[in-house]
Amino acid sequence: MVEEKWSFPTNGLSMEKIKEYMVPGKNYDCLDNGRVFLGYPQTTPHPIAIETYKNYIQYNENHVGTFSNNDSDLNITRRMEKQFIEMLGDLYGDIEVDGYVTSGGTEGNIMGVWIGRYYLGGETDDICLIKTYLTHQSIDKACSLINIKNIVEIPYNHNFEMDTNLLIKEIDFQIKSGRKRFIIIATVGYTMTGTSDSIFEIDRIIQDYSKKEDVSFYLHVDAAIGGLVYPFCKKESFAFQYANVKSLTVDPHKMGYIPFSAGVFLCRRNLQDCVAIPIKYAKTVMDKTLVSSRSAAAAAACWTTFNYLGISGFKTRLNKLISLKEYLVENLLAEKLAVLISDPSTNMVCLHFNSIPEGLLPEWIEKKYTLDGFKLKCKEDMLVCYKVYIMPHVTKEAILQFINDIRLLVN
Ligand SMILES: *Cc1c(COP(=O)(O)O)cnc(C)c1O
Repeated sequence: MVEEKWSFPTNGLSMEKIKEYMVPGKNYDCLDNGRVFLGYPQTTPHPIAIETYKNYIQYNENHVGTFSNNDSDLNITRRMEKQFIEMLGDLYGDIEVDGYVTSGGTEGNIMGVWIGRYYLGGETDDICLIKTYLTHQSIDKACSLINIKNIVEIPYNHNFEMDTNLLIKEIDFQIKSGRKRFIIIATVGYTMTGTSDSIFEIDRIIQDYSKKEDVSFYLHVDAAIGGLVYPFCKKESFAFQYANVKSLTVDPHKMGYIPFSAGVFLCRRNLQDCVAIPIKYAKTVMDKTLVSSRSAAAAAACWTTFNYLGISGFKTRLNKLISLKEYLVENLLAEKLAVLISDPSTNMVCLHFNSIPEGLLPEWIEKKYTLDGFKLKCKEDMLVCYKVYIMPHVTKEAILQFINDIRLLVN
């Protein structure tokens, strides 16, 4: 059925009609028939974040410019954004970083490629961007916008990480072909598999080439999801602790429990100058962001929520989610309902339902659990895989219901 187009009302609708739409409840109730959102790292935001958002949104405060490392007299929300950037810098190993609260991971990734391109200089055609098949499509978007045509995909290994031996081979090949400027995109927490590229090895490879050859690198880390997971559950070093990491993307609207839209772009101090553009109507401010003006409420919600939770709060929440994920995995494996494609010991898992023809879940299950099957090359086979994210709204009952639905399919 084709719905009739909605025309702009001449006189405005009745208050009664408007009220129906002002409160979402009625429109959302129908989703409660046992539906459980499992397929994406999205959840009801933290109550502190919602409350803060509500309190600030009415003032419609707008953030223009960037406030990191800015010692002028800032108003409350700008100071919160500045301190929030410092907090994340602290968490990631460089409290001196610059950055700002973005509209999300896509903006942060475009910023990374944009700065990388001008940091490296030369002609755009001389630049080679290196990524993997698993890299988020926002990097392709960035390349399309910036007109980077030389994009190379390094195959991933059996652990769904960029194969660093093949990375070295590729850099050698590119250097032989006359290319000397590289943007490398490393991902911490691939959306599809939850796995991460080894920043440790990529950093060392860059170190080695920087000594030997007249080549330059810009390493951007896409930690949209992993940035608020890995520091709270893994012991290894992170992001800016590696000398060659230049910039990073992280999404508070995913594992930071903040309402949309809230992302963060971070870079080494002053790197945003590579893309700075003067603002004609504000003499003292340079625009070093992609979106220009943006909501101050997002920055405020990030500040209150992150300061309320602290590192221990993030750890406690994450550990609960991980236990629940383990419970799901143990049960699925014990009953041979699925096999693991990747289990990055975080709150997500990537599965193949080998008990079902072609591994493809029926549409009603995909809808009920907001799961999307995708084909992935796993060792030698192309398999239909599903990523499952255990977020704070997911209960043990919901997991039992999911297992039961799969069990009924099989038997
Ligand atoms: C979600 C995601 C993005 C894009 O983030 P948006 O906030 O949707 O723009 C980029 N990279 C990875 C790895 C992601 O998971």
